[in-house]
Amino acid sequence: MGKLQITNLECKICGKTFLPDQVDYVCPDHGNEGILDVQYDYDAICRQISRESLKQNFENTIWRYKPMLPVDPDSRVPPLAVGWTPLYNAVNLSQKLGLKQIWVKDDGRQPTASFKDRASAIAIVKGQEKGAKVITTASTGNAAAALSGLCSVMNQKNVIFVPETAPQAKVAQLLAFGSTVMLVKGSYDRAFDLCMLAATEYGWYNRNTGFNPYMTEGKKTAAFEICEQLNWEVPDRIFVSVGDGCIIGGIHKGLKDLMAMGWIEQIPKLIGVQAEGSSFLYQAWKNDEDVLTKAPVKAETLADSISAGLPRDRLKAMAAVRETGGEFVQVSDAEILDAMIGLSRGVGVFAEPAGAAAYAGLFKAVNEGHVGADETVVVINTGNGLKDIPAAMSAVEQSGTQPFRVEPELEPLKKIVSGWP
Ligand SMILES: *Cc1c(COP(=O)(O)O)cnc(C)c1O
Ligand SMILES: [Zn+2]
Repeated sequence: MGKLQITNLECKICGKTFLPDQVDYVCPDHGNEGILDVQYDYDAICRQISRESLKQNFENTIWRYKPMLPVDPDSRVPPLAVGWTPLYNAVNLSQKLGLKQIWVKDDGRQPTASFKDRASAIAIVKGQEKGAKVITTASTGNAAAALSGLCSVMNQKNVIFVPETAPQAKVAQLLAFGSTVMLVKGSYDRAFDLCMLAATEYGWYNRNTGFNPYMTEGKKTAAFEICEQLNWEVPDRIFVSVGDGCIIGGIHKGLKDLMAMGWIEQIPKLIGVQAEGSSFLYQAWKNDEDVLTKAPVKAETLADSISAGLPRDRLKAMAAVRETGGEFVQVSDAEILDAMIGLSRGVGVFAEPAGAAAYAGLFKAVNEGHVGADETVVVINTGNGLKDIPAAMSAVEQSGTQPFRVEPELEPLKKIVSGWP
């Protein structure tokens, strides 16, 4: 087997470090809260990969960055095309909002249609490195669909816990991919707790967000891609929707890796966008509360993928915003529905509510004067609009758009079209 470039796993609470074969998940002194940060030997990495070598690399997936990832170089990786999603220059939106440049990173284009494929791709490789018989996760739906799809092609048994209210498209994906599916009565938070118990009880490999330290490492690949796609000229801000906080923590981690390797010269401000009905981190940031002692909030938003009463990766998420001088923004469900239409019509990207929330956050931040006209920003769409058609229909309805109903004859059509330019 090859050599991992990991030096340590460091507890985000007490700073204690472990070797990668000493612990699989969290710091033993801090229960489930003791999330670990994966640390690397950057000199060793820089001997294997450079900005120049990437120009000659035609592996257009997250595995183009393999030396920067926490996997054994000899491990088998899933053959699905995870990562290297498009970064669109959203000219119409830049004009509309009066900013120098807006880029939209479309992770609705992932194999299972959400950002979560980035993390689940790492989960399956790590799980199989450990010889897992079963891999398990709880999820609002997308992390599950991602794990499920990647497991199918890798012949990996997996058990998935989702709230019974998860959107039908996401549940359909799980069943089509052949996962064992537990529809849990209650919220995502309840599904999470049950999955944690099951993983301990049966010794299943645990992919859970905010618990498995390697999920951040998958999610950081979006930061690598954004910087490479912008030819290593970093934007001023990156807007990302936040539920558990793993994505924003991952983006932060990716940027810190690139700084440590000397590939970028500064770190953009990270802007975390939460739904008003599920805004634990926004509240904690605004009121300067300790995320370890703050009580869970009630999570109620139509953006199911960011509905989390107790964000499991809250330590890393808060650090991402604080350490980059960014901010949290909260948006209402109505603003999210507007943003779905704004993104669809402005750049042709059809997003699920949680994906469009990032754009809703940008819209709000610009209107409140938090973003300078000379700034370049990146907005990440984290999930495809086809994931949740009822929400898309609500967005359309709110925008007042309606189809015409017409008999299959030219005359009735002419009545409708008469007077058009
Ligand atoms: C999971 C998810 C998010 C939020 O990611 P966290 O890591 O939970 O903050 C946002 N949008 C979509 C579509 C997601 O699936
Ligand atoms: Zn600790």
